[in-house]
Amino acid sequence: MKAFKLLNVAGAYWRGDEKNKMLQRIYGTSFPTREALDEYLRLLEEAKKRDHRVLGRKLDLFAFDEDAGAGFVIYHPRGMRLRTLIEDWEKKEHFRRGYQIVQGPTLLKKELWMRSGHYDHYKDNMYFTKIDDVEYGVKPMNCLAHMLIYRSHLRSFRDLPQRYFELGVVHRHEKSGVLNGLFRVRCFTQDDAHILCTEEQLNDEVKGVIRFVQDTMDMFGFDYSLELSTKPEKAIGSDELWEKATNALIRSLEDLGLPYEINEGDGAFYGPKIDVKLRDCLGREWQCATVQCDFTMPERFDLEYIGSDSKPHRPVMIHRVILGSMERFLGVLIEHFAGAFPTWIAPVQAVVMTISERFEAAAAKVVERLREADIRVEPDFRNETIGKKIREWQGQKVPYMLIVGEKEADAGAVAPRTRSGESLDMMSVDAFLERIQAEIDEKRLDQPKEVTHSEA
Ligand code: ZN
Repeated sequence: MKAFKLLNVAGAYWRGDEKNKMLQRIYGTSFPTREALDEYLRLLEEAKKRDHRVLGRKLDLFAFDEDAGAGFVIYHPRGMRLRTLIEDWEKKEHFRRGYQIVQGPTLLKKELWMRSGHYDHYKDNMYFTKIDDVEYGVKPMNCLAHMLIYRSHLRSFRDLPQRYFELGVVHRHEKSGVLNGLFRVRCFTQDDAHILCTEEQLNDEVKGVIRFVQDTMDMFGFDYSLELSTKPEKAIGSDELWEKATNALIRSLEDLGLPYEINEGDGAFYGPKIDVKLRDCLGREWQCATVQCDFTMPERFDLEYIGSDSKPHRPVMIHRVILGSMERFLGVLIEHFAGAFPTWIAPVQAVVMTISERFEAAAAKVVERLREADIRVEPDFRNETIGKKIREWQGQKVPYMLIVGEKEADAGAVAPRTRSGESLDMMSVDAFLERIQAEIDEKRLDQPKEVTHSEA
């Protein structure tokens, strides 16, 4: 052992259960070289600065309040804006790709959970409640209602595939010892979809999902890797069915020319799956998308379609998420961008600030123009020095600070400053709108850099 460092000492519950005894956990690390250790420590330091719990408070995005309960997120206006922008984009994108948006109830009768198998396999993670002496389960997954939608009509092979998408709010019981900011909560929203298709359509459907994942990861600038998990020891469904589905997954990956790793025997008991892990700017990996084949649910709920042979057949079901848990994805986004979100999702895109009270009328006009153009703008007309205003909003990681002083007020213009500290030449409001709109339309990850005039 060449390089070693003790990192931290913390209390921890045995097996993460708060009912167990508190232990002292000692964190340490070792590396073959001093350089490797230094690099690791640098990343650790960087991760601490980017901690989404700290940034969430500083940027006023969200909070956890013990009065409300542990593991339940409360979104503040700016955090909700960020989330809504991503959700709106997702909805549009799902429509474009032939999905239909649906929504199921939060509570479903216990009998339905028994039929799906959740009651046997997952009840310890579920919450139950009673209405008029009838027992209900709070949904930990969104699959059930989607199957009820499928079976509400007689389906023909011509109706397939059916793709149901839901931004589904699910509750899962997590031990309090494992709760961790947005990364591990007790209530979260999944960008969840279920596709019901024929065996022959499986390959195309899986490819469609993977392309969706690729486009999404590219848009946010994440690297990613893929893992294929095959039949575990305890599994249901015939070997033939497993082979067909596994081959469909492999063929999809190979058709797309994507490298992948195989996790032998790591599939769900109901079918094989592909997991996608995204890599953030610090090289950390996060589980996001997953595509799972399922043979059991269609069986348990007796789902059918009439084939071209006029006989009933069983459809295959795909469970899939793209971002996974919106909460965890937001946590990753916050840390990846260190709170400096791309302009298209920045909760506040521009702040108009006055150098003195005299320019308030001119600045108010700028705010109005920007609002009319759907730019998320806030005024800062406080009687503070311009230096203080800039410092504060730069700390809030707002993409643009638009300064209005004498010259700008006279010309009906603004002097923009970027959050990275670049001062741009005075420009007309139209010119600024053109610039920011291009950034938004292209969903640019960085603000365009350019030569600044004197940094005075
Ligand atoms: Zn599902």
